[in-house]
Amino acid sequence: MLKPIITLKDIAVSFDGEQVLKNFNLTIGDGEFVTLLGPSGCGKTTVLRTIGGFVTPDSGDVFFGDEKINNVPPHKRAVNTIFQKYALFPHLNVYENVAFGLRLKKLPEETIRPKVLEMLETVGLRGFERRSINQLSGGQQQRVAIARSLVNQPRVLLLDEPLGALDLKLRKEMQLELKRLQRELNITFVYVTHDQEEALTMSDTVVVMNKGNIQQIGSPQDIYNEPRNAFVAKFIGDSNIVDGIMEKDFLVSFGGQEFACVDRGFKPREPVQVVIRPEDVDIVPPSAGKLTGLVREVIFKGVHFEMHVDVEGKEWLIHSTQASQPGELIGMNIGPDEIHIMSREEV
Ligand code: ATP
Repeated sequence: MLKPIITLKDIAVSFDGEQVLKNFNLTIGDGEFVTLLGPSGCGKTTVLRTIGGFVTPDSGDVFFGDEKINNVPPHKRAVNTIFQKYALFPHLNVYENVAFGLRLKKLPEETIRPKVLEMLETVGLRGFERRSINQLSGGQQQRVAIARSLVNQPRVLLLDEPLGALDLKLRKEMQLELKRLQRELNITFVYVTHDQEEALTMSDTVVVMNKGNIQQIGSPQDIYNEPRNAFVAKFIGDSNIVDGIMEKDFLVSFGGQEFACVDRGFKPREPVQVVIRPEDVDIVPPSAGKLTGLVREVIFKGVHFEMHVDVEGKEWLIHSTQASQPGELIGMNIGPDEIHIMSREEV
């Protein structure tokens, strides 16, 4: 367990009478890459702004390490923010944009220069010092914004959808680069996105939010493999969610069949929901399958085929590297490790 650097305790925030965060509790470890993930309007940015000091909560406490910082203004917090719109200064060149924070601190030029050049080196922009901002691509502007934030050596960097304006390819590159920077500089990153793939790729810990509430906190693997409820399961990639009955420990029935599983601790015959990822269904000849399904539609996706399959009146999504034909009857098997059980109460 990492030493806590930021702790939000029982935070409540409302705007114009609308409660945006309620009983919000979160501990972020020193050096951790934490991502707040959730649909638009769920309160991610509000959490970030609360940490940054731009939002004053109605109640609750914000701690930096052991120190309560409720009344510490934003510029006195060891926290820096990168916004989606990078807010670079268009009239200053790359060098001056990065140097800006250091100049505010009235540091001498001989201290500023090596720091700025080192940061530009780190983000791959050495040689661009004299370029003006509007002569840079979106990705380069983003790098300047990152350099400008990191040159102040914040302990915590808050990033609000920083890659939102970039095209997919650049976005992927920058994801890896941000992750590398975070590791190298050992700064705590609190990252906001509504893109689940981005969250899974980059984070040590993902916080899934909906309507101001935390739905689940866990490693990307935990969140993907063991979603705690249907909201998380659906938000984190495609899944098949079917009603089932937990017959006893390690045995669940759904679709009229019993399946071995790895879950336990439910009441005997407790109604549950079963989550099965599209890539976890084995397609076999109909006679060899525990379930049978009728293939409705097959879409080529490059790496795999996406198939929509009718199983007892419910549509299943299956990803497979082998195509079946629309109208074909297929057999389906699912291994114990691929079956994830959720309590219906959690739903
Ligand atoms: P997005 O992904 O769209 O940025 P988000 O999850 O970051 O969404 P927030 O920006 O935290 O969500 O907003 C949560 C709710 O609070 C929204 O309904 C929003 O309209 C409202 N809200 C946020 N800031 C303010 C404000 N300054 N004044 C009034 N309402 C606000």
